[in-house]
Amino acid sequence: MIQLERISVKYGQALALEEISLQIDFHEIVAIVGRNGAGKTTLLKALIGLMPLVAGRRMLGDQDISKLDVEAIAKLGVALVPDMRRIFPNLSVLENLKIGTIGHQPGHWTVDRVLEAFPRLQERLSFGGDQLSGGEQQMLAIGRALLANPRMLLLDEPTEGLAPVIVEQLVHVFAEVHRQGTGIVLVEQNLKVPMKLAQRQYVLDHGQVVWSGTNEELDAQRAHVESLLTTGAAV
Ligand code: ATP
Repeated sequence: MIQLERISVKYGQALALEEISLQIDFHEIVAIVGRNGAGKTTLLKALIGLMPLVAGRRMLGDQDISKLDVEAIAKLGVALVPDMRRIFPNLSVLENLKIGTIGHQPGHWTVDRVLEAFPRLQERLSFGGDQLSGGEQQMLAIGRALLANPRMLLLDEPTEGLAPVIVEQLVHVFAEVHRQGTGIVLVEQNLKVPMKLAQRQYVLDHGQVVWSGTNEELDAQRAHVESLLTTGAAV
């Protein structure tokens, strides 16, 4: 389990996350949902060691990993698919995937299994990264991250700007990734995809957790949570 205990993070003097606590088991899908600028990307960066904590602790089970950097945390099995996807434009689809296998943990996800999960990539194997559509780039970024065989996959707004049919394919693959034993932290701006996949949700606003609960709790408080995501929390 990864746990954040009352962590705070700053950009310069500006507080971006304030006393956030959350815990995520390696076997679950948890969503972090919030408006533009709520702090979602910063929270993923704090989870993976890309932002120093100015207060609080980051724990992996009983181990305090607050001081570990991003490479050390990646070695513990946490992989991030960033919102900008970071595909190498001059490398082919296959070459981009092979980069994901460098220093990877052996496990379920091989290049062949990634191509089975994303037949579209199989059809585009020799295409350059810059010749792919947004949806194909997202599939490639996810496939490359899976090749590390992470214990937990952090996805930053993976469905943003994609056509509904592509979103459906991604949802299907995320469910398969989960079935194969990888936990998922799914960041989104609305509840549409999280409601299909996640067992629990955290809502962020102004750098704070303003609501958290299970899907059953969400159903019971749907109007309140939707208002947090549209008009925000009172500060
Ligand atoms: P979005 O949905 O737009 O990606 P977000 O919820 O991911 O938003 P963050 O990107 O984490 O939000 O930003 C949280 C706050 O930190 C915002 O006020 C943002 O302006 C600020 N911020 C983010 N990155 C930086 C940076 N590199 N330097 C200074 N401030 C930043």
